[in-house]
Amino acid sequence: MPELPEVETVRRGLTNLVVGKTIQSVEVRWEKIPGMSSEEFDAELAERKIERVDRRGKYLLFRLSGDKTLVSHLRMEGAYYTVPAGTAPGKHDLITFHLSDNVDLFYRDTRKFGRMNLVDTDKTMTVAGLAKIGPEPTEKTLTLEYMQKEFQRKGAIKPFLLDQSHIAGLGNIYVDETLWMAKIHPLQPANTIPLEQMKILRRAIIDELKVATEHHGTTVHSFTNAFGEAGGFQNELKVYGRVGEPCYRCGTILEKIKVAQRGTTFCPHCQVLH
Ligand SMILES: [Zn+2]
Repeated sequence: MPELPEVETVRRGLTNLVVGKTIQSVEVRWEKIPGMSSEEFDAELAERKIERVDRRGKYLLFRLSGDKTLVSHLRMEGAYYTVPAGTAPGKHDLITFHLSDNVDLFYRDTRKFGRMNLVDTDKTMTVAGLAKIGPEPTEKTLTLEYMQKEFQRKGAIKPFLLDQSHIAGLGNIYVDETLWMAKIHPLQPANTIPLEQMKILRRAIIDELKVATEHHGTTVHSFTNAFGEAGGFQNELKVYGRVGEPCYRCGTILEKIKVAQRGTTFCPHCQVLH
């Protein structure tokens, strides 16, 4: 699943390729994604200009003329890419946005889990998932005071960090990476993490997502950003995808366990459960 660095990479790509263009018509081949028929979606979007593409957590926000916002969540495999107008859609190209300047924007989704919501722009933050979203993991917005307050919970740290209402943008990859960096076991209860370690975790989250974004994110499995720039961060990963290989810090063989139904790689020597 694309996490913050990958979604931000898509946002930047879309900004270069489609901002300023007008949607002329839309074809939907899987109605569950926008939650309306092809005719309805077309009627709502036709003649609207794409003014800007924003992001909040893992959500893309297409700001359209007429004060409408198309909220798009890629979920597992969703992706956007542009093609010359008239290009035949492939099997997994589920939505075509016919744009001005002879460009078509395809939404492709092999798993069909992605979702779109068209709302009035001033109602953007009422969309499910955005209504309770936590702060962006930046220096300004993810404060130590906020973390100290939120971490007063008994549950294990990994599912706590995956929950977007606590911190926006983290997923399986970057949670495993930052817990390794802060030497925290994935099952450690959030409310037992000492302040000094919380500071290290905060630093790791902010820095890791920033650097991963600079690398255009991580390319894992079939996820590639659609703009010809494959992410390069997979080469920088410290634990994710490295089960059975030695820890870069201590040489211990990395292990994999299930936490909250997610494969979780960690170092049993560096990340001890207290
Ligand atoms: Zn280690």
